Amino acid sequence: MRATMMRTPLSLNQLLERAGRLYPESQIVSRRPDKSLARHSFADFYKRSRKLAGALLAAGLKKGERVATLCWNHHAHLECYFGIPAAGGVMHTLNLRLAPDDIAWIANHAKDRFLIVDDVLLPLLEQFRARVPFEKIIVFPFSGAAVPNEFTDYEAFLAGAPEAFDYAPHEEDDPVAMCYTSGTTGRPKGVVYSHRSTVIHTLMANQPDHWCLAARDSVMPVTPMFHANCWGVPYACVMMGIKMVFPGPHLHPEDLLSLMAAEQPTYVLGVPTIWISMAQLLESDPQKYRLPQGVRMLVGGAAMPEALIRTYAKHGASVSHGWGMTEMSPLGTVSYLKPELRNAGEDEKFRRLAMAGVPAPIMDIRLIGDDGREQPWDGVSMGEIQVRGPFIAGSYHEVATEPEKFTADGWLRTGDVAAIDRHGYVRIADRTKDLIKSGGEWISSVDMENRLMGHEAVQEAAVIAVADAKWGERPLACVVLKPGKAASAEDLRSHLAGAFAKWQLPDRVEFIEAIPRTSTGKFWKVKLREMFR
Ligand code: AMP
Repeated sequence: MRATMMRTPLSLNQLLERAGRLYPESQIVSRRPDKSLARHSFADFYKRSRKLAGALLAAGLKKGERVATLCWNHHAHLECYFGIPAAGGVMHTLNLRLAPDDIAWIANHAKDRFLIVDDVLLPLLEQFRARVPFEKIIVFPFSGAAVPNEFTDYEAFLAGAPEAFDYAPHEEDDPVAMCYTSGTTGRPKGVVYSHRSTVIHTLMANQPDHWCLAARDSVMPVTPMFHANCWGVPYACVMMGIKMVFPGPHLHPEDLLSLMAAEQPTYVLGVPTIWISMAQLLESDPQKYRLPQGVRMLVGGAAMPEALIRTYAKHGASVSHGWGMTEMSPLGTVSYLKPELRNAGEDEKFRRLAMAGVPAPIMDIRLIGDDGREQPWDGVSMGEIQVRGPFIAGSYHEVATEPEKFTADGWLRTGDVAAIDRHGYVRIADRTKDLIKSGGEWISSVDMENRLMGHEAVQEAAVIAVADAKWGERPLACVVLKPGKAASAEDLRSHLAGAFAKWQLPDRVEFIEAIPRTSTGKFWKVKLREMFR
């Protein structure tokens, strides 16, 4: 017997068409470099995305060719999310925080044909332009200044598009976007998303227990649009006609708070480091700095300390904590309270919310121990998380399949070590390469950092392994104190002693000015290991 259902291809174009038809009045707000606000309607967005597609086709873009973006978060970048695939092209978001050498390497590896770049990022482009043979450089006049003659002006490019436009024909497995992993070791690797993977991820990630974004919401993505497609949130916003508030280049917590006060988003997203510095402002002057009432926060990309979730709760925000990776589109787990835990005490609730959460539907997840066997979900057995599913990468762009990334039976090896409890809550202990093995026993750096960041004098903490002649490795804690607060290494060890065995306590505590960040705003442990080798 055969199923009788239609086999129409999943397509981002359906999301764009729907947005144009059903939500023409929804708004897109973008903060410009001079901090003024640009306002566009979804009707503008629909028209301009299609214009971009038409202009790219007229410029000779062929199916599957890459159009790179080097842009902040704003409405034109959103137009690229939909306009480039509508032309049959692949949007390749370049990470503007990488070193120029790395950006050049990535753009060449991806064979980017065209580039769309913010005028305010032209000085960055100049540092690698000679090394990448972009055929056409289209400059978005984000600052409002005239675009230099040697480039194509984005607005003129759109204005010159032919009147009639037909979507480029495609299959659901055709590529729409690509991102390179942040690559803390070795060269970055390209992940290529398809219409199908993106639409399925959007439907999955917007479930009520996950993002739960509805037309009544308004969303402020602080997560860069070059970081795993802004976690896929823009696709959900377009699907449901949701107002978007883009902060542009202004990511200082004071700027974010003023934008939140002006536009009252109901949902914000970003990595924990952003929220660590914002919490400091909120605590410093609760009269002056306020969050929109009841705002929901999606936090991921690194572990969100429990103490910080509690701080935000005090300021009226609820935090949803997720784990995932570029290779997973990126969502893998989300922390929410399952029904059997709704009556748990406050402490248990916060403990749960600080875990990585419950595995998402439409994917498979397993824990594989050091012995190569699947580990039980008992909350203590640890193993590497392996995943598979329709929005998970099965290979990298033009890289020979590596056994350390993909198993012979078709699973992605995430490189994250975790335990899963009987309720299905995942607790990430570490990256495999960040684990600390002392005297043959593992110490979780994530657990130790979370505990340290719960100390009232600690603003940030990262724990790394340092070589030790006797024990193999010992933990070293790098700590940034809050301004005006004091704590000694002994104070911090006593604070940790409540939650860790004596042999696990760090022998060394280094007080530093700031913890170095990766290009996506996470603690950069490779750098710390170099500093304290
Ligand atoms: P990226 O592909 O840049 O988003 O990095 C993915 C990696 O970030 C994962 O493999 C984890 O090591 C880390 N990560 C993401 N979310 C979390 C989280 N909630 N807790 C701990 N680590 C996380």
